[in-house]
Amino acid sequence: MNLRYKISLSLIFSTLVPVSLMVFFVLWHVTNDAEESAKQTIQNYMQLMSSKLTDEFYTSIREVEIYAQVEQVKSMEPANFIPFLKKEFLRQNGRYEKLLVSDIDGHLYNTACGNPALNYKCSFDDNDPNSSPKLLTGRQYWQETVGNNVSKTQVTYLSDPIISYTTGVSQLIIASTVFDDNNQLKGMIGASIEWARISKLITDLSQKIFSQYSWQPKIMLISDSGTYWYHWDKNKLVHLKKDAQGNVIKDEKGLPISKAYSINNEPETALHLAHRDMLQKKSGITEFELAETGDIQYLFYQPIESSQYSIALMVSEKDVNQVSYDLKSLYVVVFMIALCVFMFAAIWIAKAITDPIGRLMGQANRLKEGNYAIESKQSGSGELSELSETFAQMATVILDRQKRLEISEERFELAMKGANDGLWDWNLLNNDVYYSPRWKNMLGYGEDELDSESGTYFRLLNKGDYKYLKKEIKAVRLSDKDAFSYKIRMRHKAGHLVHILTRGVVVRDEKGIAKRFVGTHVDITEQTLNQEKIQKLNEDLEKTVRERTLKLEVANRHLNELAMLDMMLNIGNRRGLERHLNLTHTRFKEEGQNYAVLLFDVDYFKRYNDLFGHQEGDNVLINVVNCLKDNLNKSEKIYRYGGEEFICVLPESSLNKAITLAQKMVLSIENLQIKHAKSHYGVVTVSVGCAEVRADDMSWEQLISRSDKALYVAKAKGRNQISADSSPYESMFNS
Ligand code: GH3
Ligand code: MG
Ligand code: MG
Repeated sequence: MNLRYKISLSLIFSTLVPVSLMVFFVLWHVTNDAEESAKQTIQNYMQLMSSKLTDEFYTSIREVEIYAQVEQVKSMEPANFIPFLKKEFLRQNGRYEKLLVSDIDGHLYNTACGNPALNYKCSFDDNDPNSSPKLLTGRQYWQETVGNNVSKTQVTYLSDPIISYTTGVSQLIIASTVFDDNNQLKGMIGASIEWARISKLITDLSQKIFSQYSWQPKIMLISDSGTYWYHWDKNKLVHLKKDAQGNVIKDEKGLPISKAYSINNEPETALHLAHRDMLQKKSGITEFELAETGDIQYLFYQPIESSQYSIALMVSEKDVNQVSYDLKSLYVVVFMIALCVFMFAAIWIAKAITDPIGRLMGQANRLKEGNYAIESKQSGSGELSELSETFAQMATVILDRQKRLEISEERFELAMKGANDGLWDWNLLNNDVYYSPRWKNMLGYGEDELDSESGTYFRLLNKGDYKYLKKEIKAVRLSDKDAFSYKIRMRHKAGHLVHILTRGVVVRDEKGIAKRFVGTHVDITEQTLNQEKIQKLNEDLEKTVRERTLKLEVANRHLNELAMLDMMLNIGNRRGLERHLNLTHTRFKEEGQNYAVLLFDVDYFKRYNDLFGHQEGDNVLINVVNCLKDNLNKSEKIYRYGGEEFICVLPESSLNKAITLAQKMVLSIENLQIKHAKSHYGVVTVSVGCAEVRADDMSWEQLISRSDKALYVAKAKGRNQISADSSPYESMFNS
């Protein structure tokens, strides 16, 4: 259903339906009221009619009751009451058809008959003196007032219409009991009202009262016995039974037989029920269906007070509710016109709303189809034209973005091509993976080969990298990392492995859950293999360097040793001495390990050289050193201090021990007996300066200096002897 119908329908349903319901409610209410009021009006008219008839009967009843009190009547003497009756009859001027009296035996006297032979009793033939007198004992009104008057009180009775025994006219009798002054029941007095006059009164009243209605009033006068005494349908009126020849049928007493119709003989039960109300002197309105035609009818009925009658009116439902029907028709016509106008307006409004929306839809559809041609915006102001303007702006923005996207895509493609990288795009929600042609080509596959799903990736992945990559991917997904980079190997279609650098970024939703990986593949096989080669070369080189360094270290060590050795004498030279003294003095300083030194100098050696030559001098030096070495233990070392001077380092030695050793060594040299003519000892000798390290020696140089001074003293004292620097040992030995 399109928007126009929806809007039209919603307008109709939101407005028209409630309005319609309201209209129908009002209509229903108003017409109901109108119907009720129409019925009530008719019922009021019926009440009016009833009261008119009540007045009519009541006047006569009161008159008859007063007649019963009149002396002439109470005497019950025809000579008295007949003149009275006649006078009164004339005075009433035709109001009554006749006035009558009955004695206690039922004999009839009236203003219209009288048999002089029978004292003016009415007889069947007043001209026949032997005629039988008429008796009223068969009449209901006589029985009510006289015959059955057991209470002995005055009873006034209004009879049903009856056919007069005298005149044969249809009449009503109003009868009242007559008592004499002694309250003895004497008979009754009555007035006959011609039924034709009552009929005319009813007809006139009904015509007058219901003159405003278009329908003819169907009036009925119904007695307590149910008999219709007045009926709009003449066939239902009381009438004398007649034979086929049209003669009145009489009973055995010679009285005519009348035929009456009763409401209780009607086929409609509702009418019987209405009659029950009438019996209880109730008024009412009964709705019923005519048995004959099925038409709905109303029966309005009202009791006539002071009588056994009720007046009733039958009107068809259509006639009663004519006003309401007219009103309904008018409402319906007005409503239909309003409905048409409203529907037209609703459709027009819907059209006015949906036309611009339709144009906007067109614009939106064109945008959807990628047609971004900018249209002129809709004229006018308001939300829709603003929306149209927004669409136009959207089109501009989308067009601009699309152009930029195309440029960006082109740039990206070129970059990818230039970089020779493969692209992959993994949707983590459905495991779809896009593999670019270059990605596939890198592994030897064509554009149309390989399925676009994650399984492809792991199928081509080197088995050795499978666990590692799966674990890494899982870690990336669960972490808050945005990017990753791994080196992997994948199986080429040809079977060999391709080294690949896979780099990617993670796209996450607002909750931080990874929903997409996008990345590139770079073929790093050549680079990796080159790196492996370089690494191997580096390792080889490092090995060679290590080996050579080792050799060099050995050589250096040797060289160092050589550097600290006196080659000629095969003992440590001065550098060796310095190194030894550094270590020894440090040990002394740190561990308190005492030590002493002996400084030797060959006596008059210059002279020896001069005498025997330098070569022979070298030999002497070799012999002297070997001799001195023989006196030393393993821990005691001898070094060439310079020229023909030597120093012995004596660890853990006291000065005394040093002196003792020195003396022994001086003697050993002298005992070598190397001839030296220019020495006054005749042989080569040595002089010695002894010194022991002291706590205040800042360095071994101070110790050497003291030994040097002691040597000087030994030289000065004559040579071939020792001298110690500290005073307790300041003694001199001569050989
Ligand atoms: P004195 O020490 O007793 O006072 O007299 P001297 O002649 O030994 O004096 P001095 O110690 O000053 O002289 C050292 C001499 O030793 C000088 C030099 O001729 C000699 N000499 C030094 N080194 C060597 C060497 O390696 N070989 C030889 N043959 N002679 C050397
Ligand atoms: Mg010297
Ligand atoms: Mg010397």
